[in-house]
Amino acid sequence: MNTGPSQRTCLGSEEANPFVAVCEEIAWTARMLGVADGIVERLLHPERVIEISIPVLMDDGSLRIFTGYRAQHTLTLGPAKGGIRFHPDVTLDEVKALAMWMTLKCGVVGLPYGGAKGGVTCDPQQLSLRELEQLSRGYVRGIFPVIGPDVDIPAPDVHTNARVMAWMVDEYSRLAGKPVLGAFTGKPVALGGSLGREEATARGCVIVIETAAQLIGLDLSGATVAIQGFGNVGSNAARLLYEKGLRVIGVTDVMGGVYNESGIDIRALLDYSRQVGTVRGFPGGQSLTNSELFALDCDILIPAAIEHQITSQNANDVRAKIVAEAANGPTTSAANDILVDKGILVLPDILTNAGGVTVSYFEWIQNRTGLYWSEEEVRTRLEQVMARAFNQVYTVHQEKGVDMRRAAYMVGLGRVVQALQGL
Ligand code: NAD
Repeated sequence: MNTGPSQRTCLGSEEANPFVAVCEEIAWTARMLGVADGIVERLLHPERVIEISIPVLMDDGSLRIFTGYRAQHTLTLGPAKGGIRFHPDVTLDEVKALAMWMTLKCGVVGLPYGGAKGGVTCDPQQLSLRELEQLSRGYVRGIFPVIGPDVDIPAPDVHTNARVMAWMVDEYSRLAGKPVLGAFTGKPVALGGSLGREEATARGCVIVIETAAQLIGLDLSGATVAIQGFGNVGSNAARLLYEKGLRVIGVTDVMGGVYNESGIDIRALLDYSRQVGTVRGFPGGQSLTNSELFALDCDILIPAAIEHQITSQNANDVRAKIVAEAANGPTTSAANDILVDKGILVLPDILTNAGGVTVSYFEWIQNRTGLYWSEEEVRTRLEQVMARAFNQVYTVHQEKGVDMRRAAYMVGLGRVVQALQGL
């Protein structure tokens, strides 16, 4: 099997800056695809990057300046698409790397978009609701000249949600002097959001797991599942799998976790975590740490929290048959190789969590046509897109002898390269 960047050079080290890491992945994939040097060079540089200062009048009367970014990796295939992250660790390099990953993700599912990403370096948990609204509106004023429904369409990401999108689309529409609902996705349904967007990432992940299980002959009835993260993606994945009769035996979040060998009552866990704000201390099981979760004897492990959770330090402990990357970048390149060598099927993030951007695309179409779809229609179309993407990645995995992660890169990048080669 062809190995990827982690075994080629020291640059693929787990401590690598995310921008360096994604450049490594792109350069390796481009070589596999035989892409001309000039095109590779183009792909290693985002087309546009903007850094802005956002003044916010704080509740205590002081003025604070926050730094925000928007990176647009490619604007060749259509408008750029990607979320906005509010987090203390946001840096320009992280935003650039995430924009590049979005290009690949949109390529894997065949959306007519390039990749983009935005972020503000801040700790949203330390901000009041009013301060958060001022920051969100200020961010839009800063990036207004470079976004829009035909240019770049932001969406929620870590610590931004439908309410933040509502403030942002309202600010955008005020500046534009007309309602422009298609300028943002992930909005509340009442404000032009799509039915099914909330659970779309988890539903897409479940479709990918079901398709993969069929291919490797894993019977899902009664199969066991462990999930890290019980936010939007993790909790919806847990609920959907529980409703399909799988046994979710372990769930953790940032505070701790819960284990029950006979299966956790996910409905009760949802109620509990809504009230208490964590899954830790749930009475329907024993306590579980994050490191114990990764080593659980289960069929399917779903990292659905943050990046860099499965590394070369703990990859050998993983005993699942399938690792479904619902989070972005939860497995390092080196850890991916260890899992693959152990015979574990790793379903890569740019395929597994692409349901979110796919339904964001549906939302944008609905806003632009004014024709709104039923939840059933959204689900049917999502199933078609995810199944088609899975099959394309799986075919490359088999034909080229590369693991699923590299196969997904080859499919995603291949689409962009095809477009650039025609220019
Ligand atoms: P969220 O903020 O709703 O939930 C995150 C969950 O992870 C929480 O339960 C939190 O407690 C947990 N967590 C955070 N840090 C942790 C740690 N150190 N250890 C264990 N648990 C930890 O976020 P989300 O929207 O569910 O996103 C989860 C992941 O999925 C992120 O990587 C995100 O980029 C990715 N993703 C989300 C979407 C989407 O539509 N929401 C789409 C694509 C990818």
